[in-house]
Amino acid sequence: TPSLLLYCRPGFEDDCSRELATHLQDEGEWENGDGYVLFTPNDYAEAQRLLRELSVDQLIFARQMVFAVARVKLGERDRLGPLLSALGELPPNLQGPWSEVWLEHPDSDAGKQLSGFCKRFGSIVAKELAEHLGPKQGRWRLHLFYPSMEEVFVCIADPARSSPWPLGIARVRMPTGAPSRSTLKLSEAFMVLVPDAEQKLKAGMVGVDLGAAPGGWTFQLVSRGLKVFAIDNGPMKGDMAIHPYVKHLREDGFKYKPQHPVDWLVCDMVEQPQRIAALIARWFASGMTRHAVFNLKLPMKKRWQEIERCFDLIDNELDAAGIQYTLIAKQLYHDREEITCYLGRPSGRQR
Ligand code: SAM
Repeated sequence: TPSLLLYCRPGFEDDCSRELATHLQDEGEWENGDGYVLFTPNDYAEAQRLLRELSVDQLIFARQMVFAVARVKLGERDRLGPLLSALGELPPNLQGPWSEVWLEHPDSDAGKQLSGFCKRFGSIVAKELAEHLGPKQGRWRLHLFYPSMEEVFVCIADPARSSPWPLGIARVRMPTGAPSRSTLKLSEAFMVLVPDAEQKLKAGMVGVDLGAAPGGWTFQLVSRGLKVFAIDNGPMKGDMAIHPYVKHLREDGFKYKPQHPVDWLVCDMVEQPQRIAALIARWFASGMTRHAVFNLKLPMKKRWQEIERCFDLIDNELDAAGIQYTLIAKQLYHDREEITCYLGRPSGRQR
């Protein structure tokens, strides 16, 4: 039976498996590694169902979702031979051609030591498999996941249901002029969470940034041509303190109301998650914003339960208002003890 392999932030394996459990219809065996979770359903039919139905977009704590179809122990001498024979022994429907081959490792301290090896050995493997690879040819992407030098999980992923980024990490560069590193979080959120972000973020739109100081998130909005009301009692810094598109208001983010409905609400206030969820739901339900990106800070132990409470709260409020919505959430690469959520009108991707 194939196993479901989820890559996650190290330390969040429990949250990741707890969340996966809510999508399961059958029992199986669990193995939590450092930076990944492996689940092997008892029943082959359940594995098939997950392969068909589950998508990484539905998962918050998983950065990547692949199916491990073989597990190969490696000696020090020959790393290629055992791998090639394992590939040769795959069932015919899983054999190549594959669209691509990626060599990956967990995002743990130990895993990161393997990044050089994965790059070097990756080009050797790609050369070796050249005949079996091609973007147009294969339905599956081949993932070779090395939890250590001694072992490799041979995995396949459906490109339509998995993350398009190696290790499940969308790389974003630190822009010059941004006043804080948390700017990376919002630019990652636009890449990972917001379907068709370029269409939804247009020059001339208006945004509100609750808890804006020193201005990293505001920076992302104004650099896309939005005008921004930056709400914070603290000071904005650098360009964000003097930018003509930024109106800084020293007000309480829980009390502030815009004079006219806006296109975007973003919120990075450090507050109880349920307070934030209620606030965002109110803005959305009353039509004060069309899109929202917000963080839920999760310093508590029972993170998954807290998230469920927050989402229930949003669901209740929007249901009562008769509003359909899309909610997409992820623990981003730049998120530590928190997750980032996008709330908008329904589109193709839905929770
Ligand atoms: N997103 C910002 C950036 O990229 O630079 C960083 C925001 S920082 C994590 C949180 C901010 O929320 C702090 O500047 C704090 O002053 C502000 N804050 C917390 N509670 C607030 C409230 N009730 N109203 C307005 N701002 C608040």
